[in-house]
Amino acid sequence: MRMHEAPEPLPAAEALPERCLELPGGVLDAAGRVHRRVRVRELTGADEELLFERSPGGGAQRVSAFLVRAIAAIEGLDGPIDEALTAGMHLGDRDYLLLRLRQLDLGDAVHQVMRCPACAKKVDVDLSISELPVRRLADPRPAYPLCLGGRELLVRLPTGADQQAVEAIALANPAAANTRLYARLVLGVDGAGAPGEDAVRAWPAALRTELNEWLQEQAPGPDLFLDLGCPHCAADMSYAFDLYAFFLPSA
Ligand SMILES: [Zn+2]
Repeated sequence: MRMHEAPEPLPAAEALPERCLELPGGVLDAAGRVHRRVRVRELTGADEELLFERSPGGGAQRVSAFLVRAIAAIEGLDGPIDEALTAGMHLGDRDYLLLRLRQLDLGDAVHQVMRCPACAKKVDVDLSISELPVRRLADPRPAYPLCLGGRELLVRLPTGADQQAVEAIALANPAAANTRLYARLVLGVDGAGAPGEDAVRAWPAALRTELNEWLQEQAPGPDLFLDLGCPHCAADMSYAFDLYAFFLPSA
């Protein structure tokens, strides 16, 4: 913070150190510098209303709009906090902010009732947001050179805007959503430019799988996979915590 101009004085609640969060990925500016420290506001009823609002924009757009309200400042970053900025943030950074805001303003404990897929009994699931592991990006870059399936790819990590572009199609056809997603994320193949959807659709399935695995391993953010056994019949109930269903109940 000392390296930059002093921020405007803040109301007491926002000046508390715990309203400063460290993004696991970070926001890159035009000069390639990474900005990770975010000051967040206290959530209000209006913020909650925004999250619950049914809008044609879908879940990703609602999260972008919500984060515009929730983020007070990103340290060292000039320019407005607008939807272009929040949509351009790493998916994992957005997830991280949703989780931490929930933790700061509504508590660390999350309670859900699940149904065991084996014995169909109700199971109480209690988790602490603070116990979810967070993967931090060691080397944030606009894009990464990779060698996958004998090809040289240049790949960037997915953002809120990417999610917004594929979320409608993802419900109907996850493979088609992946095609669209990869066509957005792959910026170059073997020195040529971005491949486009038709080329990505024609890729061997193995290459698409390799790219998907790389994205899963590389992308920063909270690990939402919960290891869980049914207390009644001991069946495996492990699942990925659905952040969007949790935060956007009408999505
Ligand atoms: Zn069971």
